[in-house]
Amino acid sequence: MNQQPASVPSTFQPGLSLSYGYGTDRGLRRELNEDSYIASDPVFAVADGMGGHEAGEVASGMCVRALAAIPQLATGERTVTAAVLQQYLVQADTSIREATGARAGTTLAGAVVVEQMGMPYWLVMNIGDSRTYRLSQGRFVQISVDHSEVQELVDAGEITAEQATVHPRRHVVTRALGTGDETEADYWLLPVEEGDRVLVCSDGLTGELTDEHILRILSTVGDPQEAADALIQAALRSGGSDNITVIVVDARNVLNDAGAATTAPRRDPDVVDEDTLPRSQAAQAAPQHGGEAAAHQDGEPSDDRH
Ligand code: MN
Repeated sequence: MNQQPASVPSTFQPGLSLSYGYGTDRGLRRELNEDSYIASDPVFAVADGMGGHEAGEVASGMCVRALAAIPQLATGERTVTAAVLQQYLVQADTSIREATGARAGTTLAGAVVVEQMGMPYWLVMNIGDSRTYRLSQGRFVQISVDHSEVQELVDAGEITAEQATVHPRRHVVTRALGTGDETEADYWLLPVEEGDRVLVCSDGLTGELTDEHILRILSTVGDPQEAADALIQAALRSGGSDNITVIVVDARNVLNDAGAATTAPRRDPDVVDEDTLPRSQAAQAAPQHGGEAAAHQDGEPSDDRH
């Protein structure tokens, strides 16, 4: 689903209105674009294929096509759960293995908008080192935690996050779909706040731009399509050494706890009665990283890159 950017779609449903923009670019050094993405309410996701010889493109394409088959995509209903997503991702994993002999794989990162008891949430999912960030109430936070060798080194205190950005093995992922032993996604469930801006991107963006640079663009370019375009152009100007894919999703008219759209910040979640709201069930799945590097290396170092 390597589509060209379209005009900015906009949808409205009770409880939330979304507007979003997206784009992908082959970059300046790669012959192929092996990233794929889906940006269709309520599913926003980026898959970064790896494996070389066009197999990466096959893997990432199969992954987003599996997500596109989720029935809620046709109906627009916000009833997807992590269990449903996991089911489709297992199917994607299986079909990629069958199609490529487990020699190709793909990352997957993104957010699905879901509703629980009438309140909207971002259901964030991640396998690998594509990323989902959220700019919310003035704070810019990376939601997903990379499944990568360098993230493990950072977690172990052996290198700093800054050193990770230039580490020679920064492209090696420890989880992927379609290859390796570690295929399970991490999930996070976060209440949608008024004015939230979610960014989903492949490592072709984050490999070129610092988080500060990304935040500067996200906080100064209002229109989501223009923001996505500006991010891609900035990554190209910074070298464009990898395929770059970006989705920017804005949430407006968010229903608050009282059932009325508001522009005020939500009240402190600590004061909410834990028995009465789904927030208490929020699957803040403690992301676990660990395990072995996905066996997507076939002896060619360039295939570590994706
Ligand atoms: Mn990549």
